[in-house]
Amino acid sequence: MACILILLGAPGAGKGTQAVRLAEAYRLTHVSTGDLFRLHLGQGSSFGLKAKEYMDAGALVPDEVVLDMLAERVGQPDCEKGYLLDGFPRTLAQAESLGSRLSPDDQVVVLALDVSEETLIRRASGRLLCRSCENIQHLDFKPPARGGICDSCGGELYRRPDDAPEVVRERIAVYRNQTAPLVEFYDQLDVLTRVDGERAPGEIFEGLRSVIAERGVDLG
Ligand code: AMP
Repeated sequence: MACILILLGAPGAGKGTQAVRLAEAYRLTHVSTGDLFRLHLGQGSSFGLKAKEYMDAGALVPDEVVLDMLAERVGQPDCEKGYLLDGFPRTLAQAESLGSRLSPDDQVVVLALDVSEETLIRRASGRLLCRSCENIQHLDFKPPARGGICDSCGGELYRRPDDAPEVVRERIAVYRNQTAPLVEFYDQLDVLTRVDGERAPGEIFEGLRSVIAERGVDLG
């Protein structure tokens, strides 16, 4: 049996920040399809090259590319007991494909972060990512102690090109049209809980932990 935690939410909802905390707290492998694409892009691999034009435009990478990349990642030994999905699934076809590769005794818990559009744009516009570790900072909410340097590992912080305001607006529209229907999809399967994502990261984290406890998730 494996436990699959899924973080659902619009771009800027705080999925990445919470995923890092949850992965550490529950010793779960963090699988972020966005991070994987950025890694592949940096390495110039075929997954990265196929994804680039879509990522630059704030569009979704075609399902078959995402699914191949994900299969390669979750097939590795560190995902055997379960994993934490961040940024996947993003379409109904992806959710159905994930469902078909799980076995009946696998436990799926979907945590949906609720955040207003105004907050999403504010968060994305000051977001800074570390090139060396998974740390996410923010110019206003978590400013680096030393300009441009990651507080966690001393690596270089950078702004994602797709965090430019016009691309963020497109990504939010894509979320609304293609990903938001998954809230209903997982709700009907009775595996989804909505969590207020407007609060401070520590409070959101506690909210997520309560849901995981209530759902009786077996992470042993
Ligand atoms: P993220 O870091 O999750 O915001 O993802 C960055 C970009 O990678 C997205 O805007 C998409 O272009 C692409 N991407 C990441 N995950 C997926 C996915 N599950 N399906 C399609 N495209 C994705």
